[in-house]
Amino acid sequence: MRLVFIGPPGAGKGTQAEYLIKKYHPAHLSTGDMLRAARDAQTEVGLKANEYMSRGELVPDQIIIDIIAERLNADDCAQGFLLDGFPRTIAQAEALDEMLTKNGTPLDIVLELKVPEEELFTRLAGRGRADDKPEAIRTRLEGYRTQTSPLLDYYGTKGLLVTIDGLGTVEEIFDRIQTVLDKIA
Ligand code: ADP
Repeated sequence: MRLVFIGPPGAGKGTQAEYLIKKYHPAHLSTGDMLRAARDAQTEVGLKANEYMSRGELVPDQIIIDIIAERLNADDCAQGFLLDGFPRTIAQAEALDEMLTKNGTPLDIVLELKVPEEELFTRLAGRGRADDKPEAIRTRLEGYRTQTSPLLDYYGTKGLLVTIDGLGTVEEIFDRIQTVLDKIA
């Protein structure tokens, strides 16, 4: 199964991704995790990316596209993958399409986890990660609205988008996801 998971910061994507991986075993490609690992290892790319992350801004497309292009070539992706946090811009989505078309491995589905914005701010403010300061949170939510939400139309037009209601308990939400994925698995 090859899927993209889209949702605003604070939607609970990370938690649902964990459940999903336990059940369906795709390779987990979280660009947030990759960038934080690169930052903590103080690699050149990691330090550069951190300038953007700490402000809540997206890192430049080419940095993240290069990281994903390399990661998608790893053996574990042959059994399927979950892209979590990528693509986040139309340019990234187009680059991804190009890579997957070239490899003959198109996406099966794009899941959107939908949560109202008022709820997101409350959740993020209570989480306490380094980029969860109010100003950075506002920037990330704004970035989602302006740069990432256009992807919903992009994938909707391709007939790949399925929207999941992200309000409820973790188990309720995962049930909704399973109902969708069991049909295509
Ligand atoms: P969030 O909880 O805000 O969804 P992530 O853990 O997915 O955060 O990502 C944290 C930060 O890493 C983002 O705010 C952004 O700076 C950077 N980042 C992650 N994925 C991407 C991407 N695809 N394009 C650009 N920047 C990204």
